[in-house]
Amino acid sequence: MTQTTSSTAQSEALFARARAVTPGGVNSPVRAFKSVGGTPRFIREAHGAYLTDVDGARYIDYIGSWGPMILGHDHPAVREAISDALQYGTSFGAPGEREVELAELVTRLTGTQKVRFTSSGTEATMSALRLARGFTNQGGTGRKLIVKFRGNYHGHADGLLVEAGSGLMTNLDGALGASAPSSAGVPEEYAALTLVCEYNDPAALDTLMAERGAEVAAVIFEPVVGNAGVLIPTPEFLAALHRVQEAGALLIADEVMTGFRLSLNGATGLLGLRPDLTCWGKIIGGGLPVGAYGGRADVMDFVSPQGPVYQAGTLSGNPLAMAAGLATLRTLEADPGLYERLEAYTVRLADGLKEAAAEADVPISVNRIGSMLTPFFQDAPHGSVRNYTQASRSDTQGFGRWFQGLLSRGIYWAPSQFESIFVSASHTSAELAATLEAARAAFAALNST
Ligand code: PMP
Repeated sequence: MTQTTSSTAQSEALFARARAVTPGGVNSPVRAFKSVGGTPRFIREAHGAYLTDVDGARYIDYIGSWGPMILGHDHPAVREAISDALQYGTSFGAPGEREVELAELVTRLTGTQKVRFTSSGTEATMSALRLARGFTNQGGTGRKLIVKFRGNYHGHADGLLVEAGSGLMTNLDGALGASAPSSAGVPEEYAALTLVCEYNDPAALDTLMAERGAEVAAVIFEPVVGNAGVLIPTPEFLAALHRVQEAGALLIADEVMTGFRLSLNGATGLLGLRPDLTCWGKIIGGGLPVGAYGGRADVMDFVSPQGPVYQAGTLSGNPLAMAAGLATLRTLEADPGLYERLEAYTVRLADGLKEAAAEADVPISVNRIGSMLTPFFQDAPHGSVRNYTQASRSDTQGFGRWFQGLLSRGIYWAPSQFESIFVSASHTSAELAATLEAARAAFAALNST
């Protein structure tokens, strides 16, 4: 169970030391609690559904390292696989058996033909786009443009930091504009090669493709968005996405968050997508640093050393990371009821939140799919938030106060309105009951202050 402590002294001390030697005191921006305020908790250990911070407080974790920990933290099968691999050395810089096994497993589960491993999701999307440009520009067709959607985040490569979501929505107030870079340091010339459309707007995508389609190398998208809060695609939007393939552009599904999360074949399996390339990360590495991209063999064969598109990595295919990924995916595959259990928990969580918010007269609009969920703090019917513009109407201050209310009651929710939470296989009805009790109290506290 959770154990709360009013002291954050150790976290504060570490945060002060961290700020002196690391920008903002963190190695990834959303961890700094900038939009919700308060001291970021420095975590000492994580087991199952729980995190314990350096002051000894114990929390039910809804971040799961931002997605990878679908089995829960410190899962025995994953720990054993890593310990076993450890006996044979930590990095070879030469090929090994585990990366072949993981590639065979990933291609089989996802129905893709070839896959290349990287060390992060950012590298996967960045490499997939270079590949798409290299492939579609054969013979000098001039296809250079990529299309992405407002509020979709695909990692931090220059060309993708254009109207990107999550940490950028949270931290760079007002910096988002039409096709503008969402980070300093991204040249406008790069941003100009990235065209941006509203998510779930098939007509806008059709118009853009009618005007510029011949120059478009690829359309990249989150098949279910997690990085603007959860946004679920409409069938009409998915149909428009597939039309870009007829125009000669490659369709790239960024399943870094949704891959192996929404089903064994991610959102692609759940929603019946037919992408040319897919990017993975998070779960594919079981909590160790891994990314991957893969898809059609004729496209993937354009990657070096077979083809002319260069991409490499000192630690790519790392044996510990491959072992963690293999153990995670094998455990998922061996438990056919797992995705249903994750969903059942998340449905009950969503229903409980709706009820608790209504009792306290706090307007929220819940989006949920599988084990991903966001309560948008706004007065709109549940399930009706469909794009970035709607998501950004949320009361981020109210969300921040609710987040603090949960944290003080031992629930570690995502520290931003524009994120999904992730349920793991270690969350049981005991954690559900404790979460809903805390959520009820946190909603009630919002209106009594
Ligand atoms: N794509 C998506 C959809 C993501 O959610 C993320 C990370 N949150 C990335 C790409 C980037 O992955 P990484 O942080 O491993 O570079």
